[in-house]
Amino acid sequence: MNDIKLLASKTIDFAQSIFGNDFIPLHRPIFLGNEKEYLIECIDSNFVSSVGQKVTDFEDKTAEFIGSKYAVATVNGTAALQVAIELSGVNSGDEILTQALTFVATCNAISYAGASPVFIDVDKESLGMSFLSLKIFLESNAVVRHGICYNKNSGKKISACIPMHTYGFPCEIKEISDICKEWNIFLIEDAAESLGSYVGNKHTGTFGNLATLSFNGNKVITTGGGGMIITDDEALAKLAKHKTTTAKLPHAYEYVHDQIGYNYRMPNLNAALGCAQIEKLKDFLLVKAKLANMWEEFFLNSGIKFVNARKNNRPNYWLNTIILNNRMERDAYLEATNANGVMTRPAWELMSNLKMYKKFENDGLLNSIWLQDRIVNIPSSVPYNFKEKL
Ligand SMILES: *Cc1c(COP(=O)(O)O)cnc(C)c1O
Repeated sequence: MNDIKLLASKTIDFAQSIFGNDFIPLHRPIFLGNEKEYLIECIDSNFVSSVGQKVTDFEDKTAEFIGSKYAVATVNGTAALQVAIELSGVNSGDEILTQALTFVATCNAISYAGASPVFIDVDKESLGMSFLSLKIFLESNAVVRHGICYNKNSGKKISACIPMHTYGFPCEIKEISDICKEWNIFLIEDAAESLGSYVGNKHTGTFGNLATLSFNGNKVITTGGGGMIITDDEALAKLAKHKTTTAKLPHAYEYVHDQIGYNYRMPNLNAALGCAQIEKLKDFLLVKAKLANMWEEFFLNSGIKFVNARKNNRPNYWLNTIILNNRMERDAYLEATNANGVMTRPAWELMSNLKMYKKFENDGLLNSIWLQDRIVNIPSSVPYNFKEKL
């Protein structure tokens, strides 16, 4: 325990040497580019709201960065997930396989569709859904009848699978994609945390049928609030745009809507911020990789594991992550760092422990429980003093 107090105190010194002596947040946004210019353009043009060129520009730039054919901007990442789930053809009463180690938005979006989450364990190295746990769950509990996958325990249809790329570390998405194809399960990647993360040369979010991003203030780049639906499927992209823009039929002046749509469009002002932010994304990623290197060296020989890229993976290092030896050590480290103005955070409470989601099936979640006891995120912003280099 004294070792952990000492490590926390060294962490504080090290963080201050990088970020300065003021309060050090986990991840704050950084604006070094054309943000103000683009915002002024919006204001001068009168197009600040739900129509405007910046939205299209931001969608195009993001699709180009990711290497996907289509991108549809939304008001936030949760809304993007909700609509992606609807597009997958999930019906009320269906089941969706996901991880318990995730931010609550993943699970909430499943609930909005009237579906039930089923929690599959994560992998200890990737921190995302374990393909082996997924395979074992399906082989022991599922059956495909007339091309539809059913859960033999509940009798319900398993319509979709939503793995998440935790903290920007790519999950075992290739293997998960193969399994989903084999079992006829629609694959949605929650890539909210993984903009700029790759498996080989392929960007996360391009392995499934659909993927969603978030541009919340704490993510790698931000639009204030915002999200996006990513796909290579033209029909799905058109439907995503339609549903998120009140399902209005195009007409010179008539207001006719052909289904219950949503007002989930990203405002032009937010997209303007996004256009400027994405111009800097490559630089941010370089600096974040350098910062991760520095943290990794710091934790060498400390007895604490620093989570790093798996083979053939390039994470965005959104949130740097360490694995303490047990929950007591974790709590002591969190206590000491946060008391001294260095923000550190544990992993989210497992979804399977939240009162709304307790009742749903899970596979035992051994690794999820093990990790939740031990994970700590440490300061990961792009440091201001890297400015000259950007
Ligand atoms: C940030 C995040 C979202 C979406 O969040 P919004 O705040 O609605 O943009 C979804 N899933 C995960 C895992 C996230 O981290």
